Amino acid sequence: MHFSLTPFELLRPGIWRAVAQPAGVNIGLVAGSTGALVVDTGSSPEQGEQIRDAAAAVAGVPVVGAVVTHAHYDHFFGLPAFDDLTTYGHESLIQALGTEAVAIDAALVDLEPDELRPPNRPLSLARMIDLGDRHVELVHFGRGHTAGDVVVIVPDAQVIFTGDLLEESAPPAMGPDCFLKEWPAALDGILGLVREDTLLVPGHGNPVDRVFAFTQRAQISAVYGQVEHLIGEGVKPDDALAVGDWPFDADTIAAVLPTAYAQLAAEGKVPRTRLRLL
Ligand SMILES: [Zn+2]
Repeated sequence: MHFSLTPFELLRPGIWRAVAQPAGVNIGLVAGSTGALVVDTGSSPEQGEQIRDAAAAVAGVPVVGAVVTHAHYDHFFGLPAFDDLTTYGHESLIQALGTEAVAIDAALVDLEPDELRPPNRPLSLARMIDLGDRHVELVHFGRGHTAGDVVVIVPDAQVIFTGDLLEESAPPAMGPDCFLKEWPAALDGILGLVREDTLLVPGHGNPVDRVFAFTQRAQISAVYGQVEHLIGEGVKPDDALAVGDWPFDADTIAAVLPTAYAQLAAEGKVPRTRLRLL
């Protein structure tokens, strides 16, 4: 697997992003007068160190902390490189470290699960970080892309790092650990803060504006709504791709259908064969 990191690119005064491979993940950097915060940490402890060094060189103030937006390897696995600083993330990341999903991801990047670290300052709902002349707000708006998405808000600059609640370079990753029904509500939390001049930095791809965010929110909502509708019509999972009206490409929809059907089945919604009355 090829690991690399682009130089940090200035987005707004004191705010940068870099892109880390292998996953093309956005790494954020927010500097105030007394310190700088790194947003997401890359795919390995080694990459985390590279990010920390690059961030320190660019920020002009010491790196004082790092925040992880959610428990996926490309955002999370660099955290050990920041463990001597204050590190933030949703409290569910602590349990995530013990899961099979994280163990599988760790094997993919040649790591043992015990080489990973949880955030040392976990949060349940919200936290404010003081960087001197600037403050940053961390907010968990509810479950969406994962159980523990944290959004990073820089109010004075109107910049919001959304993690994978939004993606620009590809359709959003609606994996088995997402919460399809609740995801739009988590995005509503973000959209409530967004102004015309707000820059939204997605987990992957280029920064976007509120029109993009509104559209992607509607698309994610439409996936769930369409599956719910098809189940009501008695359409089985195997037929859903062909029958449904979908906001994303066929590969994306084929990948999410088992998750969507399973999540609706958990609510007692399953396709029933209609009896034909003679
Ligand atoms: Zn993710």
